[in-house]
Amino acid sequence: MNLQRILSEIVVKSFPELKYIKIEIDFNNVLEEDDAYFIYGTFSKNEFFIDLDKSLKIVKKEIIVGGIVHELCHIVWELNIPEFKSKDLKFYKIIPKYRQRDEKYTDLETILRGYGSELFSLMDYYQRYPTRGYKKGTYSGLTVDDLKKINFQGARK
Ligand SMILES: [Zn+2]
Repeated sequence: MNLQRILSEIVVKSFPELKYIKIEIDFNNVLEEDDAYFIYGTFSKNEFFIDLDKSLKIVKKEIIVGGIVHELCHIVWELNIPEFKSKDLKFYKIIPKYRQRDEKYTDLETILRGYGSELFSLMDYYQRYPTRGYKKGTYSGLTVDDLKKINFQGARK
């Protein structure tokens, strides 16, 4: 699976504002280290990275695409309000309600960008193979049930 190519295709098609932003993408030990399948972060002001857990090497492409788009939506948000970033991250880590709002917003943005079906595949994967945080109920984005309520095409599977 060529992650860089998948990322480039998504950016060209749906994230024109990220065309000149450097984003590194790779598989890593994300599940073990961060209790997540996908994470993003910054190297500097206009340089980001997205890491995917190694276990995702064997999943279908749409799950990968759903996760990458979700992380790109976080990156767009950060680029739009850089002055809030450090404060934001602190809130994100310590206030569950804040984290929940941020993740739900990011999932909604993923749908608005046209990737609802891929997000649904990703949610479905999270439900089948939950992380420790997900099991404890601290996973906080939209759920498969939320997506069914929204009732877009992809969630009717
Ligand atoms: Zn997120």
